[in-house]
Amino acid sequence: MEHIRCLIVGSGPAGFTAAIYASRANLSPVLYEGIEPGGQLTTTTQIENFPGYPEGVDGTQMMDDLRRQAQRFGADIRRGIVTEVDLSSRPFRVRIDGEHEIEAEAMIVATGASARYLGLESESRFRGMGVSACATCDGFFYRRQDVAVVGGGDTACEEATYLASLCRKVYMIVRKPYLRASKAMQERVFSTSNIEVLFEQNTAEVLGDENGVTGARLRHSATGEERTIDITGFFLAIGHHPNTDVFKGQLALDAEGYIKVEGATSKTSVEGVFAAGDVKDPSYRQAVTAAGSGCVAALDCERFLLAQ
Ligand code: NDP
Repeated sequence: MEHIRCLIVGSGPAGFTAAIYASRANLSPVLYEGIEPGGQLTTTTQIENFPGYPEGVDGTQMMDDLRRQAQRFGADIRRGIVTEVDLSSRPFRVRIDGEHEIEAEAMIVATGASARYLGLESESRFRGMGVSACATCDGFFYRRQDVAVVGGGDTACEEATYLASLCRKVYMIVRKPYLRASKAMQERVFSTSNIEVLFEQNTAEVLGDENGVTGARLRHSATGEERTIDITGFFLAIGHHPNTDVFKGQLALDAEGYIKVEGATSKTSVEGVFAAGDVKDPSYRQAVTAAGSGCVAALDCERFLLAQ
């Protein structure tokens, strides 16, 4: 069985930063990229708030740069998904792609978080046929059409403004009477003429036919009054859930499934397992905070391995 000193799971800014630090510390890290190589940032357009890029940077480009930076110091970056773990004793045993097993002396979990859906039957029926959780991936298919974005946070505002540059009209379906997004994002939305914000509306049903989405039936949160909008694209931007299913019952998780860590460290409930990035961070969730926590995890991991 292959024996790995420092195993990193996940390939967002947290995982790659951990790989950069771990390889420079001669920990010979092996990183498995997971379901979405490059992580959530590959589904965004410009990143304008990562320090060091005064003109902004394309998300996919930034992840390619981080990957190459880690490889330059010798990190072994592999395609593959962790499908099973046994953290009950060291070395930890980990199954990749449901097939081969490896063992690891220490592990950094940086599996991130994934998009949430409303949970409507009609929504799953039309997934991939007009229903999407990634405007930057799928918006192009709806150019010059009418679409809707669900949510009132920064992601929803960002997706709505992006779609407004491609589509004829963008509705924002917001369940509260206000947007949760930052003031800057709100201003961007309100100054875009082809975005209409529909406050206090919930989606009762996504409408469609054999060709895909044709509309949505909305219900006013206070009055219950219903209305229908004609759209061909229905984009979800209602937050994320942490990718921790494989660690359930093995690592201590909070009520929402985020990995619990000790104070400002990356230490989880299992000695030798460290967590970094969105998978342990329900509140900040930024590329730069994820990268910072990847560094913390690599330093904690290095100290742990040296003490063994
Ligand atoms: P948020 O949790 O901030 O917002 C989710 C939005 O979806 C809220 O408006 C919420 O409504 C709504 N929502 C949740 N569940 C439902 C539901 N079942 N039905 C209808 N609406 C629902 O998530 P985001 O993904 O927008 O942002 C996550 C974090 O990332 C934030 O900290 C944000 O600031 C950050 N971010 C920063 C960006 C940037 O700086 N460039 C870009 C994107 C994100 P309600 O308000 O009623 O709870």
